[in-house]
Amino acid sequence: AVSVRGVEKHYGNVQVLHGIDLDVAPGEVLVILGPSGSGKSTLLRTINHLEKVDKGTIAIDDELIGYRARHGKLHELRQAEVLAQRTEVGMVFQNFNLFGHLTVLQNIIEAPVHARKIPRAQAMARARELLERVGLADKEAAYPRQLSGGQQQRVAIARALALEPKVVLFDEPTSALDPELVTEVLDVIRSLAESGTTLIIVTHEIGFARDVADRILFVDAGRVIEDGTPEQVLASPRHERTKAFLSKVI
Ligand code: ATP
Ligand code: MG
Repeated sequence: AVSVRGVEKHYGNVQVLHGIDLDVAPGEVLVILGPSGSGKSTLLRTINHLEKVDKGTIAIDDELIGYRARHGKLHELRQAEVLAQRTEVGMVFQNFNLFGHLTVLQNIIEAPVHARKIPRAQAMARARELLERVGLADKEAAYPRQLSGGQQQRVAIARALALEPKVVLFDEPTSALDPELVTEVLDVIRSLAESGTTLIIVTHEIGFARDVADRILFVDAGRVIEDGTPEQVLASPRHERTKAFLSKVI
């Protein structure tokens, strides 16, 4: 389970997160909606400590992210400890972020073999299972540039799953894709959701959110202003800001 408590974040003098609280239960699928610049990516990045918070705490399965509590004070973890924690959180970005000089299979086994020291043969067997699962069993020897955007993103999803993370974060996973490639990626995410993987998904795909989310948050200017079921948030939002946003994206 993911638990975010009172998280604040500034860039210079500008405060971009104003005390975010959220909980995600094991197996839950949380979709985060919100306008551009509202802090969605920043929030995701704090969850795996790619960004440090200025205030508040984040814990995954009761383990504090980035810090250790001792004598009532928080002490920053060392870089190696941060990296080890980060392997428990999968992340899928808008622009795939695959390693261009590595094949599909090499991309997927990179972290298992180098960060987690899993034997190569075992990592390869697991990678092939994952490629099967995302419908790319025949592409293991291809390089990213030889794949479509939708295929690259499915490889990125397989890579994010390779370390059996406790939660997978998606930051607008389909917004860089040609429209005809969006469905193949959403279908893979949907199957993860159905298999009980804990997911936090930032997306503008409202129809997908309605189908797949257990809960939807609407974030505006660094604050969570709606938190409810898809029906509650999409059909009867409490705030004008949410209504205005939804009327633009639906
Ligand atoms: P989008 O929908 O456009 O992706 P977002 O909701 O993901 O937007 P963030 O990327 O989290 O928004 O940005 C929130 C605010 O923080 C914005 O005003 C942005 O300009 C600012 N910001 C983000 N990253 C940095 C940074 N590294 N340095 C300074 N300001 C930043
Ligand atoms: Mg963003």
